[in-house]
Amino acid sequence: MKANRKRIPIVAANWKMNKTCAETVAYLSRLLYSLEELNGTVEILIFPPFTALRTATTYLENERKTDIFPLIGAQNMHWELKGAYTGEVSLVMLLELGIKHVILGHSERRRIFNETNDIVLKKVKAAAAHGVVPLICVGETLEERNEKKTEEVLKNQLVDILEFFKESGFNDFIIAYEPVWAIGTGIAASPEEANDACRFIRALVGSYLSPEVASRIRILYGGSIDENNFEGFLLEPDIDGGLVGSASLDVEKFVKLIRMAVKHA
Ligand code: PEP
Repeated sequence: MKANRKRIPIVAANWKMNKTCAETVAYLSRLLYSLEELNGTVEILIFPPFTALRTATTYLENERKTDIFPLIGAQNMHWELKGAYTGEVSLVMLLELGIKHVILGHSERRRIFNETNDIVLKKVKAAAAHGVVPLICVGETLEERNEKKTEEVLKNQLVDILEFFKESGFNDFIIAYEPVWAIGTGIAASPEEANDACRFIRALVGSYLSPEVASRIRILYGGSIDENNFEGFLLEPDIDGGLVGSASLDVEKFVKLIRMAVKHA
């Protein structure tokens, strides 16, 4: 059964710490070639590493726009605009490149780089202040899932952010439900399970903001998406596309996912 979709699906590629500038150009050129033959209302977001952002934005600036055209986003940012933060990248630097989307709170940042909910909130505030769309990642660990704490964890990761959105009136954001146990493991959530979590998130957004915002914002699923399982997620009513890691690194595989989203848009 096809989902009665009111929202434009998003297919997002999180390249993580992969691809040089040369590889980025080769990928984008192949991607644009494939997109030329596609028509539809699907948004494509590509998140290269910082070092390839300038290459990617410059390359796309000079290309002929196709019906479906990718936008480039950043995988992270610092919450301050400048200063003594060795190794960090600020929003001002991203804005200069025309970046309008940034992934925040990815589980690898939370787990490996100790990003807390407070840090994610600071970054969300900075993005909102500059009109950059945060793609906020939330999700439970395997242990939390086994203890049936998924909803509690999602709420805990989102409440302060939603409070801030309520106070500030900012409501241009994307949420990705990414169960930690499904990321990079080859074990995806079932579409039903993922939809339950996305529906819960949507209801939470509705209760903090408004039913209108809840019915408009896009909520993605992420975690071991591939060409064999993506369609199942797209058929679910509360899932508006995917945040894709491994399967986005191969442009041919990524294009297959885009085709599926076009079919179900
Ligand atoms: C991710 O890192 O956001 C992700 C979903 O990775 P993968 O698709 O490889 O599980």
